[in-house]
This record gives sequence, structure tokens and C-alpha cells, in this order.
Amino acid sequence: MAKKYYELTPDERLAFLNLTDQAKTELQANQSDSNAQIVENYISDFRVPMGLLKDIVIDGRHVNVPMAIEEPSVIAAANNGAKMLNSGGGIAVKMPERTVMIGQILFHNVDFDTLNQFVNIHQETLFKIAKHAKPSIYKRGGGLVAINVRPVANDDISVDFKIDTKDAMGANIVNTILEAEVTLFTEFDTHFLGAILTNYAMGQLVTVSGNATFETVGGREIAEKIVALSRFSKKDAYRATTENKGLFNGIGAVVLATGNDWRAVEASGHAYASQEGHYRSLTHWTISDEQLHGELTMPISVGTVGGVISAMNQAKNALDMMHVKSADELRGIILAVGLAQNLAALKAIAAGGIQRGHMRMQHRALAVQVGALPQEVPILVAKLNTLSQVDTEKATEILMEMRK
Ligand code: NDP
Repeated sequence: MAKKYYELTPDERLAFLNLTDQAKTELQANQSDSNAQIVENYISDFRVPMGLLKDIVIDGRHVNVPMAIEEPSVIAAANNGAKMLNSGGGIAVKMPERTVMIGQILFHNVDFDTLNQFVNIHQETLFKIAKHAKPSIYKRGGGLVAINVRPVANDDISVDFKIDTKDAMGANIVNTILEAEVTLFTEFDTHFLGAILTNYAMGQLVTVSGNATFETVGGREIAEKIVALSRFSKKDAYRATTENKGLFNGIGAVVLATGNDWRAVEASGHAYASQEGHYRSLTHWTISDEQLHGELTMPISVGTVGGVISAMNQAKNALDMMHVKSADELRGIILAVGLAQNLAALKAIAAGGIQRGHMRMQHRALAVQVGALPQEVPILVAKLNTLSQVDTEKATEILMEMRK
């Protein structure tokens, strides 16, 4: 019998695709045995550039942060933002003493008092079930911390389980515990909808804050414009969306480099950005003590173990570079980079537009795209930087002239 597609080897899967020899060779060159075990229907690795944010001061510690991202200007901007915040003494991190992931058991058409009473009566059993379902997390000092019955709408009710998953992001740990807990709710079978973690990580709400001197942002006038831009993005969803996108340039790049789930982090951030009933920016800039002061508060769920982190050497290497000891420390680093990234973007806008710096970085990608060799790239980029208008045709024309 013919093998199913998922049963084939990566090379056999590629053979289905009618590829050019060059494409096939390139894809094969990027295959790895370890990643082939991680996803279904694996054909090749997809590589993304990784660069370094060199030195951001977080709670007094100098940290070098790896960032994995395809957008050319992001890492340069993060370095710039970090320098500005380092000038004000670095970034401070605040978070709950014990961060917890939340899991939900969902019921509909059920009376709140009846369900609430049931949970109260069975508290002890529910805690025992959690311990039995995932003893290893208890050995590490984690486990179920609290249970809360929360009305959602009419007779829709969520029973929320707050679980300390220690240094793991915890999606699987939470789901394992929830599925065991469900077995106690048999008398509510007809009301039961499902059980799953929530990515709205409100038990992992972290705040980072920092100052930048007026001098480093380009003067008091620029600082005041940054504050005005920040106010604007609290009220205008169009501005807020772009501002948060810029923030996630930094956040997402560190989340990806460390092998974490960037969809979970983004979903949680955007949900929090809407918690007041309208979408707003996540950062907040003011002037305080004759300095620009920035704050970012956001729920963030990441791990330093678990998921695919331990299976991907790139992720382990990235964590090693930062000398990170816990998931809580990683949360602080990721958001600190976000704050720096946001400051760099706001400064560029306030000081006359992001396009100049942006296009300079974009020209490198364009040079590669038109076929410049590594030694030709800097020369071509320098020439493109002097022009007011640049496009593929122009870049190709200059490259051809250079080669004459
Ligand atoms: P794992 O299932 O891999 O669990 C983490 C494991 O790491 C623990 O069970 C434990 O193993 C081990 N571990 C070692 N050291 C520690 C430590 N210090 N603290 C805690 N655990 C430790 O991963 P997660 O539960 O973190 O799940 C994350 C994955 O789930 C991600 O890949 C995510 O993308 C995915 N996912 C996400 C969903 C979502 O976001 N909605 C839904 C479903 C999956 P042991 O028990 O052997 O001791």
C-alpha cells in the first residue's frame, strides 16, 4: 500500500512539489534531523536572521539580547532605544510574587450559585486531583494555586484554575490538570462546554519602566512630542495598532529567538490592549523629574523550558546568551526590549519620520534581492543611501555599473 504523505521522508515529500533543482538543493541544505521530529509533513527549516541587542540594563544587570526577525530596521532601533533608556539608569521590572497561568472549565446554561457551591464544597478534592494529574510540577514547587468561579454572561460560567507552571509556559501542564479536573464535574455534564488554558495571561501581568534623558531623545521638544504621540494612541485605534505593532517587533523577536510561542504572547497583549473596551497602545510615556518616563504593562506567558525550547538548540543558545535563570526573568527582559523598541520608534516619528533610518536598512535587503555579492552589498548600499528615490530597477542599474 502506498505510504501516506506524512509517512514519507522530507526528501520524498519534496519530490511531490515539482521544484527546480536549485530550490530543491536549497531546501535540502536547510534540513535538520531534530526539527524534522517537531512538526508534521516537515520539508525543511525556515531560517530567520538573528541579531543582538547589545547591552540593555534591566534591574541593574547588563543583558545582551538575541532577536530573531526578518524586518531589517528592528534590531538597530532596539539598540538605539536601549541606549536611551540606559542613559536614564536602565529598566525596572515589577511582577506578582507568584506568576500563574489560568485554565478554564467552561459551562453554559448553568446556575451560578449551584456551580459556585459545588466548587466550594469540593475545593480539597479539586486540589488533590491537580496534584495527582501532574505530580512533577508540584516537585518543582508549582501546581494549583487558586480556583475562581466567574460569571461570563447570562448562564455562561468559567471555572478558572490558577496554576503555577514554574519555568514552563505551561499550556500543556494546565490542559493536563484541567482534563483531570473535568472528571469531578459529571453532574454538570449537560452544561459542560470544554476545558482549556486561556492565553489571556492575567496571572502573569508584568510592568517595565524606565527613563530617558532629554538629551538622548533629541531635546525637550522631542520628548514632549513623544508624550503627545503616546496620548494620541490611547484614543485612536489606527495609531494604537501601529504603535503596538512596533512594540511587538521587539517583543516578538525575542520570543521567537527563545523558542517561545509568539502567537500566545501577541494574543494576550492585544487582549490587554482592549481591556478598557477599546483598543489602545500598551505603553505610556510621560515627563517626570525632567526626564522622559516610559511604562509598559502587559500579561506575558513564556518559558525557559518545555514546549520545543529544549528540543531546539537555537532556543537554548539564545537563552544561554542572556544568562536567564527563570521564566519570570525572561518575561522582564522581553518587555524591556519592547519598551526600548517603542521608544526608538516614537523618537523617530517625533524627530521627523521613520523612513530615513528605515530605508537605509531596507537598502541592504534590496541589494541582496538584486543579486549583490556580500562584498558588493556595502558599496551598493552606500550609493543607494545618497539617492532620494530608490527602486529595484535603480539598484540593478547601479549594480551593473559597479561590475563594469
Ligand atoms: P511542556 O508540556 O513541555 O511542559 C513543560 C515540562 O518541562 C514540564 O512538564 C516539566 O517536565 C519540564 N520542566 C523541566 N524543568 C522545569 C521547570 N523548572 N519548570 C517547569 N517545568 C519544567 O510545555 P508547556 O506546558 O510549557 O507547554 C508549552 C507548549 O504548549 C508550547 O509549545 C505551546 O506552543 C504549546 N501549546 C500552546 C497552546 C496555547 O497557547 N493555546 C495550546 C496547546 C499547546 P516533567 O513533567 O517531566 O518534569
